Amino acid sequence: MESPLSRDARGLSKALVGWFHSSKRDLPWRRNRTPWRTWVSEVMLQQTTVDTVAPRFEAFVTQFPDPHSLAAASDDAILAAWAGLGYYRRIRSLRDGARSCVEAFGGEVPRTQAALMKLPGVGPYTSGAIASLAFGEPVAAIDGNVGRVASRLLGIRVDPSTAKGRKSIESELIPLIPKDAAGAFNEALIELGALVCKPSFADCGRCPIRDWCVATDGDPMHYPLKRARKASVAVRCVRAFVPDGCHVWTTRIPDGQRLAGFQELPGRWLAPGESADTALQGVLGSLGFSEVSVGDTVANCHHVITHHRIEVSVHRVEARPPQVSGGSLARIERSLLSSASVTTETRKVARYLLKDRR
Ligand code: SF4
Repeated sequence: MESPLSRDARGLSKALVGWFHSSKRDLPWRRNRTPWRTWVSEVMLQQTTVDTVAPRFEAFVTQFPDPHSLAAASDDAILAAWAGLGYYRRIRSLRDGARSCVEAFGGEVPRTQAALMKLPGVGPYTSGAIASLAFGEPVAAIDGNVGRVASRLLGIRVDPSTAKGRKSIESELIPLIPKDAAGAFNEALIELGALVCKPSFADCGRCPIRDWCVATDGDPMHYPLKRARKASVAVRCVRAFVPDGCHVWTTRIPDGQRLAGFQELPGRWLAPGESADTALQGVLGSLGFSEVSVGDTVANCHHVITHHRIEVSVHRVEARPPQVSGGSLARIERSLLSSASVTTETRKVARYLLKDRR
């Protein structure tokens, strides 16, 4: 049977784009759209809400107005500029992409999805978003929002977060993208997913494309196919507060690990049944400390990372520091324990530790 979509793709895009122009939110990256601003905004918006990103966007692109400026920035500068946005791997990856853009394209953001995909950290969604929104290339940009809307619109019950699911949506969506309004069409799908066709409620009554939507024949909540959620695991983490005058000993997280470049108090997750004393003796010994004496708990906090609920306890420790420090060992002023150069977990416990002046 011929679907309403194949009969009237033009009508669908007209209704969708018309709705977008009359209903879209006024967001900073939509004013003065440039390829670089589009790239930055798409990276910032990954796993972070519009409400969090909107007040931060202009300051970031003012500090880093083009790929050249970000490519030349130091670790400390980019981490400070990204502070509070979370998922810090993104800013390193954006800088890697900016460096590659400078080296391979003279700092001009590539115009096609194929060229954009050659940049490190730029995947199918980001490349599709930049190519279509900034350059008008008729390619798909399928993130979680668009995957859900398209799954319902097209009646394809797949998981859009998998490569296979995204491919099957993409193959049916691309023929619907108008060549003369690819950016507005894609951005309208993003906006529709944010405002109308939401994960837990599809407001079909006020949807501009309901006449074309396959999911309205049944229950839209039936789409898309959802991946089974991984249960979260409780873990215990122990850390050492080793004061040294006005300073505190820390470790810098090495390259290649999550939160690389940030400092945190020395410590690690505990194995089942393991004591804090055993773990901290081992950690501090491996860093070159001697005469380690693990004292009472001076701070506790709870912290959540993806599938882990972490109970953190910080112990005061007396120890003789190594004669020669190096490797991941670092030392910062106590007051900087609540600064942007440390992990969020460290900042959480810092409010207790900064009161401890002994
Ligand atoms: S009609 Fe309903 S299910 Fe279909 S796209 Fe619109 S809001 Fe989503």
